[in-house]
Amino acid sequence: MRVSRPVQLKGISLNSNHHSNGKLNMIKISGLVLFLIGLAVFTSTLFVGNYKITDRALQEAAQKVPAERLEMLEPIKNQQMTSKSEMLSSINKLLNADQSLSDYQLGEYKFWILKAAATGPFTDYTITFFILSIILASVGGLIYFLPKLKDLPGIKNNHMFFSSTMSRGLIGIILGIYLIGFYVLLYWYPTQIVNAVNLVEPVSQWLRNQPADRWFLYGFLYTIAVAVMGIRMFIKYRHSRYHLVRTASVIFFQFGFAFLIPTILERLNQPSMDFKNAWPLNYSFFMDWNLSNLLQSGNLGLFILFWGIVLAVIVVPVMTYFLGKRWYCSWVCGCGGLAETLGDPFRQLSDKSLRAWKIERWIVHSVLVFAVVMTVMQISNFISNGKLFADYTWRVNQAYSFLIGAAFAGVIGTGFYPLMGNRVWCRFGCPLAAILGLVQKFKSRFVITSNGGQCISCGNCSTYCEMGIDVRWYAQRGQNIVRSSCVGCGICAAVCPRGVLKLENTTPGNRYNVPLDDVLTKDDYATDNPLVY
Ligand code: SF4
Ligand code: SF4
Repeated sequence: MRVSRPVQLKGISLNSNHHSNGKLNMIKISGLVLFLIGLAVFTSTLFVGNYKITDRALQEAAQKVPAERLEMLEPIKNQQMTSKSEMLSSINKLLNADQSLSDYQLGEYKFWILKAAATGPFTDYTITFFILSIILASVGGLIYFLPKLKDLPGIKNNHMFFSSTMSRGLIGIILGIYLIGFYVLLYWYPTQIVNAVNLVEPVSQWLRNQPADRWFLYGFLYTIAVAVMGIRMFIKYRHSRYHLVRTASVIFFQFGFAFLIPTILERLNQPSMDFKNAWPLNYSFFMDWNLSNLLQSGNLGLFILFWGIVLAVIVVPVMTYFLGKRWYCSWVCGCGGLAETLGDPFRQLSDKSLRAWKIERWIVHSVLVFAVVMTVMQISNFISNGKLFADYTWRVNQAYSFLIGAAFAGVIGTGFYPLMGNRVWCRFGCPLAAILGLVQKFKSRFVITSNGGQCISCGNCSTYCEMGIDVRWYAQRGQNIVRSSCVGCGICAAVCPRGVLKLENTTPGNRYNVPLDDVLTKDDYATDNPLVY
């Protein structure tokens, strides 16, 4: 009896563990299957559908395209076309017959006409397919995360570097290509995603009383991604108040400030703005069309102009002085919000090398200079009524929008999550991060203190630092971490098994607890450690 009982108990406990693990795996697999079905349906919007310019389509397109342009489409009216490219080239030929349209106008008109001309399952059963794609993928994602409630909270090094998704394996590469492809179509080939835009048409009509465009689709998906992956963060970091509040904050700012308020303002036909999007991240704020629009839009326009300037010139530096970069990059910013939620599984992929640190400093400060030069040109041009810099301002705007706004912030910034980590844009490209970083480095109270005696050099902190900071290097030397790139996400402190690291606000003079000369070694000088300079 004495022998058999423990064995029996052991057997029961093993079986029940097995049983519950099997159940959890089933839940996970069901979630994954639902997510993949949703994703497949969403992706199929690229390939399924016919196109026909009917009276109804012309009426719909008339909201965005001038009547005289729509009349030019008469030769192809009521012709059913199965190929998007065939319809596009026909529209192109007819609309551009007199060659008087700019590329931008032509692109916009083509988008609205093709969107209105789309027929097929996604326009006949829009709500059904909206649920079967975006909603199903979101619900699948949530179900997939549920079993994590049974795990201990926090980061676990459980075979992460053998994961195909999280360690640049095949799934990670496919995911990267998918994200990059999505951004390329969104920015440069919007006509290819008209059916995806049609999926959110009812939501756009309901919220804004306006037809959906690609930016509404993008904002909607962005907000859902932050919310769904934010719930994953709540589950994963449920032991840490800092991370719970921080995650709630990014969801709140994305939903309220980036999505809801601009949507309501659009519904009311008022000038709209994401009130947390500060210059120079908001690089179009000082463009002449925006300034003119704000100045002609009554009190609200003037308030937006006033707020945009106050945010950039006063709020950003003052808040950064008191709280460091974290108040913006990890609590408020939309790019940071996506990085901290959707990008969290990829944070360990950041490059920790000294070479990457040097490249980072060169690129991010060059982008800042580019943004400042562009803004000076924009404002001078606006004040001089187009006389100063004239056409050059437009060209510089175009170059910045293409290179930095679209290619860097969008395609590379998010598309490269599974390849280079979740903060590629914030670290290498964001001009606002460069300004915040300069304040944080030279005039701020924020610091990460390290109790060096406790450090066991496990390296968890460096591994999970999304900004590529070799946190362990400082911790081993008992040195406080004062780095311009640190976004104050706090993950280094959360993953430290010895409680070595602490995010604190102190007086600016007390931040460098150990003089650099005391901690730098000959090797640091020999290896060109940027700390030396
Ligand atoms: S040093 Fe710590 S708080 Fe700063 S970015 Fe890296 S992980 Fe986040
Ligand atoms: S995680 Fe903690 S113990 Fe490990 S290297 Fe970093 S500071 Fe040291």
